[in-house]
Amino acid sequence: MVKTRFAPSPTGYLHIGGVRTALYSWLYAKQKGGDFILRIEDTDLERSTQESVDVIMEGMEWLGLSHSEGPYYQTQRFDRYKVVIQQLLDNDLAYYCYATPEELDAMREQQRERGEKPRYDGRYRDFKGTPPEGVKPVIRFKNPLDGDVVIDDIVKGKVTVSNKELDDLIIARSDGTPTYNLTVVVDDWDMNVTHVIRGDDHLNNTPRQINLYHALGASLPRFAHIPMVLGPDGSRLSKRHGAVSVLQYKEEGFLPEALLNYLVRLGWSYKDQEVFTIDEMVEYFDLEKVNSAPSTFNVEKLLWINQQHIQNTGIDNLVKNLTPFMEAKGLNIAQGPDISKVADLLRERAKTLVEMANGAVYFYQDYETFDDDAAKKHLRGVAEEPLRNVQEKFAALSDWSKEAIHHAIETTATELDVGMGKVGMPLRVAITGGGQSPSIDATAELIGQQRCVDRISLAIE
Ligand code: GLU
Repeated sequence: MVKTRFAPSPTGYLHIGGVRTALYSWLYAKQKGGDFILRIEDTDLERSTQESVDVIMEGMEWLGLSHSEGPYYQTQRFDRYKVVIQQLLDNDLAYYCYATPEELDAMREQQRERGEKPRYDGRYRDFKGTPPEGVKPVIRFKNPLDGDVVIDDIVKGKVTVSNKELDDLIIARSDGTPTYNLTVVVDDWDMNVTHVIRGDDHLNNTPRQINLYHALGASLPRFAHIPMVLGPDGSRLSKRHGAVSVLQYKEEGFLPEALLNYLVRLGWSYKDQEVFTIDEMVEYFDLEKVNSAPSTFNVEKLLWINQQHIQNTGIDNLVKNLTPFMEAKGLNIAQGPDISKVADLLRERAKTLVEMANGAVYFYQDYETFDDDAAKKHLRGVAEEPLRNVQEKFAALSDWSKEAIHHAIETTATELDVGMGKVGMPLRVAITGGGQSPSIDATAELIGQQRCVDRISLAIE
């Protein structure tokens, strides 16, 4: 059975690029009816934080990238790593290295002077003597000296690396804690991961890890290394390109499925289709077709995708996602029209949920003043007559429907012999407080009859 995993290190926020990797892993598992594991790689005790773990959990939950196993924490598996390291030592596949940092610096300096690439030279590989005093050794893996390692990568194709280029990697630090390359192999092996899907910043670790798999007698998973996400200037996506933390997109009013849709398309395509539901992503995603070159992040495109999802998603889902933004603005949804109807009206134009919540304020909150520019243009000095006329008709309506409202506005315009805009715009400013809203009859219908009549009075005063 297919098993994939997402294995973030909790050393910062949950990054957009990391989420895309997680998404590809998740989609692949879903598509194959397999399992998706979440594993927190927190062995770097100095840089790992609980806050970052929380952010990862919250981000994954918001996105709906649910795990069927885990979360595992590597810090809870130290005993297991110790056993494996001891086994490697016992089988002469690993050794203590007593080289001090100063000694290693000097070694690298000499290598550079000779024009060589700095690498650990294996000086303690076959050491049999008495260990130097006062040095806490690291433990290194005996990388094979000859031959090649071939990665048969699903995305990158065949990548061949000569063992001569690999040095003996550290599998335990001098304080005894295991390092990433060891823990990741032990975990993927123990957890029966069949497909290691991760960022291609790890591609150079993979040959070493493959050697470790062989040393442990473990069968190899398949590898798929996903290219980086770049900023518009071609450098790796970072904070200076704007938001990179997934939770910031949540705050800015993106639908989780829109963000996933944007990310799935970043490096993969299916015909000309741009907009995908989650089910469609699961059905059509093809790991083999992931682009092996990096892709560039484009926030305009993301906004466009978000707009498409806002327009097309089920109204209940839209309301569920919109409600927290309304609450954050202090709007009391009980004090106004049915939120589903408001959301349905506002979704035509909005690119984000934040825009929708901003646009929803006047449905739920009365005001004392009007937007200055809009009032100058459409209210002061020009609007009294049309507003009085239309107010009278509004007050008299027994059927408060969009059609009846439209008819009232039209009749006012005819009676006063002016264009519809000369009634509609003042009315818009009067009943919404500003110059922008969805179609005025639909807006008025939702705001309600009494509220509209009262607001017109306020505008006339
Ligand atoms: N923990 C590693 C990271 O956050 C990922 C390891 C892996 O996927 O193999 O970069």
